[in-house]
Amino acid sequence: MARELSAHMVYNAPVRSIDYTDGIATVTSDVGAYRARRVVVAMSPAISGQIDYRPGLPAARIGIHRGYRMGAVSKFAALYKRPFWRDKGLSGQVYGAGRPVDVTFESYAEGNHILMGFISADAMRRLDHARESTLVRECIANFVEYFGPEARDFVDYGVFKWDLEPWSRGGPVAVSRPGVLTKYGTGLREPVGPIHWAGTETSDYWTGYMDGAVRSGRRAAREILDDLR
Ligand SMILES: Cc1cc2nc3c(=O)[nH]c(=O)nc-3n(C[C@H](O)[C@H](O)[C@H](O)COP(=O)(O)OP(=O)(O)OC[C@H]3O[C@@H](n4cnc5c(N)ncnc54)[C@H](O)[C@@H]3O)c2cc1C
Repeated sequence: MARELSAHMVYNAPVRSIDYTDGIATVTSDVGAYRARRVVVAMSPAISGQIDYRPGLPAARIGIHRGYRMGAVSKFAALYKRPFWRDKGLSGQVYGAGRPVDVTFESYAEGNHILMGFISADAMRRLDHARESTLVRECIANFVEYFGPEARDFVDYGVFKWDLEPWSRGGPVAVSRPGVLTKYGTGLREPVGPIHWAGTETSDYWTGYMDGAVRSGRRAAREILDDLR
């Protein structure tokens, strides 16, 4: 897919506005403007309102933009030479009460054995502006608690603060406040002129996951093909 699409991809081009005043969409990004008969906005509703829509959007869609906010979960991964937890008969998977890491999974990549931990949302918000060394120390302390002192002997680690990423504003998914879908639910998927809405939050199956994101893309493509037929 990436190979087939690559010639048509424009990277590092944040979209600032979509003007559909004359029925055709003009999408203006930092690297240029594009005209199209149809546009798919495949972003979380928590950030798709950052784009300036002209001549504006229906109340239901605005309600969706205002009613969703991003989660604040992140991942911490520590790399080890050996899967030492297996020597103890442990699977590497934990559902615990630890903070910041309360869920872990084991993984393997390029010769490294990996313990991956989800950093829960409240803990991540607290650590967003902490030193990285503090974050690493706290995560490793949880791994030690779960798997033993060998967890301190990691050879490398990886962490990404999604909350601070301006084009995501968090993860893994946007969630709506109570009542938002009841009042404004039609705005989640209903096209506005030439603008169609995709992204995992619009999927009615596996919303919040890659599966939902792919399904939403297929649904938006079907909408457009049916419309243009
Ligand atoms: C820490 C973490 C762990 C996760 N773990 C899993 C997992 O184990 N399994 C799973 O299935 N899913 C997981 N997810 C969720 C999964 O990543 C999402 O469901 C999926 O990426 C959603 O895809 P999407 O296409 O809807 O949106 P996104 O992947 O968010 O894509 C939206 C894109 O829009 C871009 N964008 C934003 N604003 C603009 C703009 N103004 N102009 C142009 N482009 C813009 C963004 O840069 C981004 O590339 C995880 C997510 C996180 C953060």
